[in-house]
Amino acid sequence: MSDDLILYEVNERIATITLNRPEAANAQNPELLDALDAAWDRAADDPEVRVIVLQANGKHFSSGHDIRAVGASDPAEALPKMTVERIYEVEARRFLGYSMKWRNIPKPSIAAVQGVCIAGGLLLAWPCDLIIAADNATFSDPVINMGIGGVEYHGHTWEWGPRKAKEMLFTGRKMTAHEAEQLGMVNRVVALDDLRSATRELAAEIATKHPFALRQAKRAVNQTLDVQGFYAAVQAVFDIHQNGHGHALSESGLPILMLFNDMKTEINKP
Ligand code: ZN
Repeated sequence: MSDDLILYEVNERIATITLNRPEAANAQNPELLDALDAAWDRAADDPEVRVIVLQANGKHFSSGHDIRAVGASDPAEALPKMTVERIYEVEARRFLGYSMKWRNIPKPSIAAVQGVCIAGGLLLAWPCDLIIAADNATFSDPVINMGIGGVEYHGHTWEWGPRKAKEMLFTGRKMTAHEAEQLGMVNRVVALDDLRSATRELAAEIATKHPFALRQAKRAVNQTLDVQGFYAAVQAVFDIHQNGHGHALSESGLPILMLFNDMKTEINKP
């Protein structure tokens, strides 16, 4: 297996981007996110590519942002001492900025999700146009347990509807693939063993369509959401999220609060 954090290949007009940090449940460090962004750019710029697939090696799609990047055993100790300004800069670029950019790449994209998709994992899956979930997939945003009201990219209300979004945010629990399918948060649920073939089949079907028509279809839906307020709401909620970091800093001197002892061992451990 390659050491690269992101794998990239093009085959029959489909670009496949693979998260390749399975030993860490594809936790996202800055290097992984920058390599992922470069892969999105490559797919966007290649005229041969008509459809982009985002998949993940290993048991899990992504356990979120890697806050143990420096390798300390206690995540609270690993957290860098940061100012509000620095947190805002980093998250505006790598979290909100990347996700919004990927969402607007003018080619259809499909995420294939298995295992856990936690917090920052949502920032990789939600920007994709379609999501295929394995039957063992779960989606959660447990940052309420860090004293913050949700991750940086507020897809929740749009993806789940307001009531289910609040349940997800208030409890931090894992929403199942079947709940997600029921509410239209994923397109379909398939057996884990069929995840890649089902995703590939859908991508191949879409790849037969005219690229400009696909671009127009994507823009029609995204632009409708933007007219409904998606863009402005996501920007505004990003600032609410930053207020959460500011609050945590004022309370503890760290960008997040460790509200429960088990958070120290549970973070980034699927
Ligand atoms: Zn944040």
